[in-house]
Amino acid sequence: MATGRTFKLNTGAEIPALGLGTWQSPEDQVHSAVLTALKCGYKLIDTAFVYGNEVAVGQGIKDSGVARESFFLTTKLWSTYHTRVAEGLEASLKNLGVDYLDLFLVHWPVCMNALGDDPLFPRREDGTRDLVPEDQWDFTKTWAEMQKLLDTGKVRAIGVSNMSIANFEKLLAAPTTTVIPAVNQVELHPYLPQEKLLAYCEAKGIHVTAYSPLGSTSAPLQEDPIIQEIAKKAGKTPAQVLISWAITRGTSAIPKSVTPTRIESNFHDFVLSDSDVAAITAIGKTTHKRMVSPAWGVTIFHED
Ligand code: NDP
Repeated sequence: MATGRTFKLNTGAEIPALGLGTWQSPEDQVHSAVLTALKCGYKLIDTAFVYGNEVAVGQGIKDSGVARESFFLTTKLWSTYHTRVAEGLEASLKNLGVDYLDLFLVHWPVCMNALGDDPLFPRREDGTRDLVPEDQWDFTKTWAEMQKLLDTGKVRAIGVSNMSIANFEKLLAAPTTTVIPAVNQVELHPYLPQEKLLAYCEAKGIHVTAYSPLGSTSAPLQEDPIIQEIAKKAGKTPAQVLISWAITRGTSAIPKSVTPTRIESNFHDFVLSDSDVAAITAIGKTTHKRMVSPAWGVTIFHED
């Protein structure tokens, strides 16, 4: 059985501790993945405009028959929408076929040219990313637009993703910032335990969601000998240990799978002992590895 834990956001709302990730979930498989997840009790679905599968995610939600109010839905504003935030929200709501989101995140603190040579990944002639120059637009302006969405009733909470401490300092110091992000969704697993960023976010009242909790594509962290040993001792799968480590530390976790048996077994999180949490966190001292690091052409992860 899942523990059914939740965490309180700075909005007062609760975010479920465990959700289904959908990055790289093909359109034709994500529908049944969402159905399986909602059927077995998941209360959080995480998607993004750029995953190209919001329509199928929305269809899965609809076909599940699960009432919209009984689960938490997160999607993300893509970088080519930073200068037209309200339009980005409308596009995602339409794709998903819902009236509101529980959480809308700025996917990356990077603004790309909305009128470039590609709607998602525009590049300049020299092949570099077509970013909007910082003197024209930056993520503090994006955030000012995000704040306005709260009055529309179409988003219950707003947050960020892939935000470093340095970028938070800039965001929180901006005169236009009146709302503290509810969530920072970042890569977080034993090879990247993010202790400094976690402490910073906790001090600011920002909840952290762990993405790629299994180490991303093909779940490489499962093979780690310490994870395997703790899993064996506890009679759990390595994936359950990784997910439970994230949750026991106070972060929500959104493992992705399109495999029904894995979706089901990943849902069985449990409470790890303090010594197991410490042993797993210590893995990051010898093996430090970031799995998701697109070449944006600007520094994103200042702490690395
Ligand atoms: P995960 O760490 O969740 O790992 C996903 C991989 O693990 C898939 O290959 C999946 O395979 C496999 N897997 C899942 N469960 C098991 C299991 N029990 N046993 C063995 N293998 C398993 O990686 P993601 O990078 O997808 O991260 C999770 C989610 O976080 C994303 O889907 C997305 O929603 C979010 N995310 C957000 C980002 C951001 O920038 N905000 C960036 C990256 C991720 P299969 O599907 O074939 O079962």
